[in-house]
Amino acid sequence: MSDKSDAFDQAYDLVIIGGGPGGYVSAIRAAQLGLKVACVEMRGTLGGTCLNIGCIPSKALLESSHHYEEASHGLAEHGLKIGKVGFDVKAMMARKEKIVGELTGGIEFLFRKNKVDYIRGRGTILDTDTVEVTAEDGSKQQLLTDTIAIATGSDVASLPGIEIDEKRIVSSTGALSLPKVPKKMVVIGGGFIGLELGSVWRRLGAEVTVVEFLDRIVPNMDGDISKTLHRILKKQGMTFRMSTKVTAAKKTRSGVSLTVEPAKGGESETLEADVVLVAVGRRPFTEGLGLENVGIVPDQRGFIAVDKHYRTSVANIFAIGDVIGGAMLAHKAEEEGIALAEYLAGQRPHMNYDVIPGIVYTHPEAASVGKTTEQLREEGIEFRAGKIPFSSNARAKTVGETDGFVKVLADATTDRILGVHVLGPEAGTIIHEAAVAMEFEATAEDLFRTCHGHPTLNEVVKEAAMAVHKRSISA
Ligand code: FAD
Ligand code: NAD
Repeated sequence: MSDKSDAFDQAYDLVIIGGGPGGYVSAIRAAQLGLKVACVEMRGTLGGTCLNIGCIPSKALLESSHHYEEASHGLAEHGLKIGKVGFDVKAMMARKEKIVGELTGGIEFLFRKNKVDYIRGRGTILDTDTVEVTAEDGSKQQLLTDTIAIATGSDVASLPGIEIDEKRIVSSTGALSLPKVPKKMVVIGGGFIGLELGSVWRRLGAEVTVVEFLDRIVPNMDGDISKTLHRILKKQGMTFRMSTKVTAAKKTRSGVSLTVEPAKGGESETLEADVVLVAVGRRPFTEGLGLENVGIVPDQRGFIAVDKHYRTSVANIFAIGDVIGGAMLAHKAEEEGIALAEYLAGQRPHMNYDVIPGIVYTHPEAASVGKTTEQLREEGIEFRAGKIPFSSNARAKTVGETDGFVKVLADATTDRILGVHVLGPEAGTIIHEAAVAMEFEATAEDLFRTCHGHPTLNEVVKEAAMAVHKRSISA
């Protein structure tokens, strides 16, 4: 530690700015490896976007609203008779808040257990070895440190001319806390957030219209998933306006009046809504961080560039998570946090960007790992595909969820698995069988020669791997 330390409030090996999945996981791993670590967080609670206003509250509401839908429409086929089912939005929200509180509090406990200093306030990089923290009451302290990690995450992106007020025009944050079910909700963007939160409010009775700029929903997933999920969500009652852009949003006395027109231009029309959810992506968050003090210049879209060890243009300043771009997912941020901590502790960590699962928690779930059919075609890689529907699977029939499929893509020459795409019951769990196989560079044959329990949903993965070799038994 430098001899400036006497002049400072605290001296550290590593100061991490941001206590989300990237920052808090990195802090714990670095402390486990013997580094003296502080994590600076300005939100008032740890866990970042994910635990406070992202993954966890959205999954809590998805679960509650799914139970409601199941109880209302899904139980009769099992011979179950219940009376009229109702719900209480306030109670759902309270359950969600309780889960968030328990989890964010849990990280504080983990920090204490691992001797990570949790410093509350906004962190600003003053120079390459000093982070100043401004607490909510305006008081300041300076932390002297050998290394700094930026894990400041991302924030909601909006559209020009559309002002989010979190009441009538909401981001995901507002959509996670609506006081009552809107009659009409327009969702701008048919991506992860639009489909998940659109599903929540549709299940609870809102008329949901999704306006998507492109001609397919979840555009980064395999085309078969986009197509089939689109069909399933339509059947569930969601309305879609594809290849359509929103050009203006005007708040009226009772709601919002949206002007939309074909993405390629053409006649405009008006959509009325009580609530509009803007879900067109997220942007890196670096406001007030003091990047200018150390000469770090974000790229045009605001992301911080790093090398393969997460080092920025300044030798002792690193960055991880949403703020460096790539897949804006909590588990990607966590893995980067661990890799960074291990690198700083002198180890040689490994991060495999080819095997990061992506899951949309609609019902049924959609999950992908590795390359999509479209990517393989674009890259000119010769591949073979095996696709098997859940309708051919005994367990799916007993569960009563036969929509969807598993698709395995394997290299035409080596048979190595290049991508797996699952739409159907428990897809977000099933996909991890494929992720492990891919991490070990398995072939489609390795996958199908692995004995799978019967009757399980995972048997569809085995069958799809068999279908790559045109030897599927069940379909
Ligand atoms: P963040 O979680 O954004 O954390 C950054 C933290 O840094 C924030 O708490 C912020 O307050 C703090 N901070 C910023 N600047 C400063 C500063 N100067 N000083 C102090 N603190 C600062 N991902 C999934 O994998 N699965 C999901 O199911 C999922 N669902 C989502 C649902 C929604 C509605 C949203 C919005 C996102 C969802 N995500 C999901 C994405 C996931 O939340 C992010 O990818 C993840 O949180 C990124 O982690 P991070 O640590 O990089 O940043
Ligand atoms: P997204 O990138 O998933 O989807 C945005 C959608 O909006 C795309 O389909 C895009 O084509 C569309 N779009 C963009 N501009 C538009 C416009 N002007 N008009 C109409 N449509 C437009 O972004 P998101 O849904 O906002 O989510 C942000 C990020 O949060 C995601 O990228 C994801 O990484 C993360 N997230 C993950 C999960 C999960 O893992 N289950 C859940 C929620 C969010």
